[in-house]
Amino acid sequence: MKPYLEKNFDLKLWKRIQDNLSLALELPLYTIDMSGKEIVSSEVNMPYWELINSNQSSKNLIAISRANRFKELIENNGNFLFYPCSSGLFNIMAPIIFKGNIVAAVILSGILYNMRNYNACKELSKITNIEYDKYAEALNNLNIKTKSEIEIYKRLIMLFLDTVPELAAQNRLVERKLSELIILNQISKMVNSTLELQKILTSVMNFMLKAIKAKSCSICIFEGKRRYGLHEPSKDLLKLESALALEIIEQKTSIKIPIINKDFRFYDLKIEYNALLSFPLNSKEELIGTLNLYGGYINLDNYDLEFLNIIITDIAIAIDNAKKYENIKESAIRDKLTGLFNRRYFMDLLLKEIEKSKHCQSPLSIALFDIDFFKKYNDQHGHLKGDKLLKELAELVKASVRSADIVGRYGGEEFIIIMPETKSIDAKLVIERLHKNVLEKKFYGEELQPLKKVTISIGLVTCMNGSLTAEELIMHADKNLYNVKETGRNNIKGTIIINRDMHPVGMI
Ligand code: GH3
Ligand code: MG
Ligand code: MG
Repeated sequence: MKPYLEKNFDLKLWKRIQDNLSLALELPLYTIDMSGKEIVSSEVNMPYWELINSNQSSKNLIAISRANRFKELIENNGNFLFYPCSSGLFNIMAPIIFKGNIVAAVILSGILYNMRNYNACKELSKITNIEYDKYAEALNNLNIKTKSEIEIYKRLIMLFLDTVPELAAQNRLVERKLSELIILNQISKMVNSTLELQKILTSVMNFMLKAIKAKSCSICIFEGKRRYGLHEPSKDLLKLESALALEIIEQKTSIKIPIINKDFRFYDLKIEYNALLSFPLNSKEELIGTLNLYGGYINLDNYDLEFLNIIITDIAIAIDNAKKYENIKESAIRDKLTGLFNRRYFMDLLLKEIEKSKHCQSPLSIALFDIDFFKKYNDQHGHLKGDKLLKELAELVKASVRSADIVGRYGGEEFIIIMPETKSIDAKLVIERLHKNVLEKKFYGEELQPLKKVTISIGLVTCMNGSLTAEELIMHADKNLYNVKETGRNNIKGTIIINRDMHPVGMI
């Protein structure tokens, strides 16, 4: 983040005007900040100052004395200071007032008629290890100024103070606005170039790191309780983010925490960053999440914050659009009631798995299952209860299979499980676990079912080499399922197909 003066003033313009004035007066003129540091250096630099500036210890001494004079200037209500230095030099220090505060000072240095002090040269020579003669000669060569000349200088400086800060501030503002427009343009290009949520989020977070020099960034989306971050978060960081999200939901404004571990609410949390800024993500009046920026320190003024808020509004709208698009994409491949893949989508996946199986000569297993006496269940408890059972069963199936297995709703109360690269013995384990889980789960009103329990019948098939088409695979599974129905229901029957021209072999 930029220092105050650099941030608020166009210092190039400042220097140009300051140098012109300095050249006209033939005297060094420079601008310092509160710490005595030279912010805008002087073009005119006579040998005497060059000598002093060539040495770090004398430079430090001068900075300290300037900082003290600066305090005096403030105590003096911003009136000019006119003070002599040890060598007989005079200095005029004048305040730069910006938005009602003294933010810097200009100093004009010169020598007043016959006031050279050679003792000071001796002192300086000792401190700086530069020969006394050199100082004395440089002091001799300085142009002598009269008191009336100094009065003119004061007026010129007054003119400088009245015009330059204002001008330089306006110029800086224009520069700032321009660079902001460029940033806004970049952001809108970036977020509108894709509807893929993950891509938008990653580029937004990386952009934040670059644009405001944050150390890390995270985005929390309330729907589905999703969190995206650039770095692995600690448990405490997640706690902090949840607490802030609640606060943002209540307050609806951004939160700035300059030192996290000094905030009484977060004393007991160990957070890997020092400072935090958390913004609400508002899309069309709706709060959809939060954006968190972490860093070593926060040095943003209200102007920056306002700008960040504008950027973040654009980002929020883009995220919301991407999220909606994602939902539409999801709903096109999922069954509404159960959330399982729909027929069209799992058939596509099944074709891909068959191709893979053929290519690698690897086994592929599928299972079809159907709820026993489901018509009865509907008749007894009504369709709504029947729907609820389908939903619960879908959840149970998802929890019972492995993460690589694909579960789809095949028809009304028939489901399919595709088990990629799975040989019969492993497929059987998965299906037996599912069967057991269904038997162990208590379903509403199941005691009225013919078997006094909600049960399922399962047909399983494993093809060893991808030689069966999708339809043939399903047909074999269906045949096994039918067989279970015929022989009392609530069971599993599985077969293995070694090659399409061979008879199915029963699973042990
Ligand atoms: P079986 O043991 O032979 O399978 O007997 P069943 O009664 O389950 O017979 P079948 O499988 O032919 O019955 C399917 C029933 O499932 C018929 C239909 O009312 C019901 N069903 C299909 N889709 C839905 C659904 O989305 N919701 C509800 N509630 N019922 C459905
Ligand atoms: Mg059925
Ligand atoms: Mg049925």
